Amino acid sequence: MPLQRLPLMESVLHAMSLGAVVLDNERRIVLWNTWMITHSGLTQEQVSGRDFFAVCPELRGGRVDAAIQYALHNNFPSLLSQTLNKAPFALYLGDERIQQALEVTPIEVAGVPRHCLIQVHDVSIAVGREKLLREQAMVLRSQSFADGLTGIANRRHFDAAIEKEHRRAKRGGTPLSLLMIDIDHFKAYNDYYGHQKGDQCLIQVSAALAGMLKRPCDLTARYGGEEFAMILPETGAGQARAMAEGIRERVQALAIRHERNSDPSQRVTVSIGIATQQPEAPMEIEALIGAADRALYQAKRDGRNRVAALQPA
Ligand code: GH3
Ligand code: MG
Ligand code: MG
Repeated sequence: MPLQRLPLMESVLHAMSLGAVVLDNERRIVLWNTWMITHSGLTQEQVSGRDFFAVCPELRGGRVDAAIQYALHNNFPSLLSQTLNKAPFALYLGDERIQQALEVTPIEVAGVPRHCLIQVHDVSIAVGREKLLREQAMVLRSQSFADGLTGIANRRHFDAAIEKEHRRAKRGGTPLSLLMIDIDHFKAYNDYYGHQKGDQCLIQVSAALAGMLKRPCDLTARYGGEEFAMILPETGAGQARAMAEGIRERVQALAIRHERNSDPSQRVTVSIGIATQQPEAPMEIEALIGAADRALYQAKRDGRNRVAALQPA
């Protein structure tokens, strides 16, 4: 390289908006560029020609130390991402410690013992963006467990919850009850009052069901259309029936007019099927759901606006 180009190269290194540190074979600092000076608060005099680990004692024995050894002695480059160590160098922007990704590269020049270049990338913005994306993903995940119309748990949430509670009931030797709740003559309601009123009715009924829950482990979900499911862990058949009766009365007490209902109240009503798994007779989840479904069908056949329970087959 022509000699007059050397000052130019040095000026380029100083002008770069990333950290550049060059060490000689004895790990003495040959270059500590302007970006490093700005963010470390050290002056050129405090670093030039000094031992790297005298300037940065906290890096001795760590990943940066190992990467420098690899570069100088084995001619190996290394990439140190921010995942294991967010901010190895004490570099600051204002009061904030800069998050860093490092590249340690061997530098070979003919006739000179090997040097190494450490590049320091400011990844604070990328890390912040990652954090934001992670938070957004969490919000999306929680939303995908909620039903779009009513805001209560959706079918996916129900599937996950019943799995979990089924396992917990088996392990703990406790009863588990499942309620299937279906609005009576809802097709006729839609036909008579219109789909929008139908939606409003679903929202009101969902809110009433959710309002009945007393423990955090209980769950009401929209199982499909105008059918809801309620998971009641550690709840025997008697308690489940009391809960179901309470729900049936609560929905009727909403006093949503339904002129096409078979019930003489001419209000929106629900039919409820109950299935209970006793600890001494464990069963598959499908069997529990099937039993609650059959109980619901029984309640419909018996005249609607009522509760029926079947012991699982
Ligand atoms: P049954 O008493 O036997 O339960 O009679 P039903 O009319 O309630 O039962 P069916 O299953 O025949 O009708 C359910 C109706 O629910 C059909 C559909 O139009 C309505 N439905 C399902 N999902 C929605 C929804 O998201 N919004 C509205 N407005 N209606 C819905
Ligand atoms: Mg129905
Ligand atoms: Mg139905």
